Amino acid sequence: MLRITGVPPAAAFASERPDADLPPAVTALRALAVDGAPRRAEATPITITRPDGESREVSVNVVHARPAGALESVAILTVHDVTSQARADRLKSDFVATISHELRTPITPIKGYAQLLLARGDAMTPERRRAALELIAERADHLGRLVEDLLMASRASGTHTLASKLASDPTPHDLRQVVTLATSNFPALGSRLTVEGPEDPIAVFCDEVRAVQIVSNLVSNAAKYSPEGAPISVVIHPPELGDTHARVDVIDHGQGIAQDDLDRVFERFFRVEDALTMRTSGSGLGLYIARELASAMGGSLTVASAPGRGSTFTLLLPRTQPPVTGTATRGATHEYARTA
Ligand code: ADP
Repeated sequence: MLRITGVPPAAAFASERPDADLPPAVTALRALAVDGAPRRAEATPITITRPDGESREVSVNVVHARPAGALESVAILTVHDVTSQARADRLKSDFVATISHELRTPITPIKGYAQLLLARGDAMTPERRRAALELIAERADHLGRLVEDLLMASRASGTHTLASKLASDPTPHDLRQVVTLATSNFPALGSRLTVEGPEDPIAVFCDEVRAVQIVSNLVSNAAKYSPEGAPISVVIHPPELGDTHARVDVIDHGQGIAQDDLDRVFERFFRVEDALTMRTSGSGLGLYIARELASAMGGSLTVASAPGRGSTFTLLLPRTQPPVTGTATRGATHEYARTA
């Protein structure tokens, strides 16, 4: 009970003291135990507050019994700490709610435009028909990306599970090439998107596909969370002698992120809820996955932001071979090579 409630026995058994002086956790449990409280066959879920301010979800079973020869009955409380289970349940239902919402969003226009084409396709101009088909294809792509994100996020249970699975064997690549590949994914941004970088190649150790994915994600967010037409720049910093990592910044001049949310944007399913963001579609998984990938490759992903003025996301990738983590896999590869 000390471990669950944080109340030392001496404080809990101070029966001579008035109830008002008892720690809240003890008062809450006592309220269930007093004779005359409604009896329940099932466990009662309650939240108790520990003296350190932390709250715990507990499930309490109460049995009243009168020991032989005793005048008064006693209450026996069985208290289960179900905090982590409650948290997992909440996560699970958040997950299901978010996912069903996110999957439904692109389905609505796909269905709408398909029905429109069926009903009135013959009467539409070729341009309008084409526009409708393009929209269907684009929304279907979005749906595909969402499912991919989901699969990736659900595979990552520990911090580095995603890492070892997806980016376990970084090889040298030119950071400028990574940025070029990523920015070429956004032809629609046109001159709104600019890239600055040195003339010479910058070798970084990464999984190229994953590094491109991270930068694309940052550019896509920069466009999503800033007003139409606001400039977005990707800046590749030439590393100084002795730098262990090379750096690339994705800078936007959009809505920015409140101080309190700066770290939370990297959490799974976290999205800033406001009128503007609700108009954009997302799963809150992009940055979570991007940071996981960056650290898997021995790098990092951080953000600096001023609300109303814009955000700068900084990706660092190692310039030297990161220490080998997947020794077993490497051994196996050697083994295979020798046998082959
Ligand atoms: P999604 O964009 O799918 O919601 P992300 O994980 O990519 O998920 O981003 C999480 C949240 O972080 C976003 O919902 C948004 O509120 C905030 N965010 C991300 N990038 C930016 C940005 N460049 N400017 C302002 N807010 C951002």
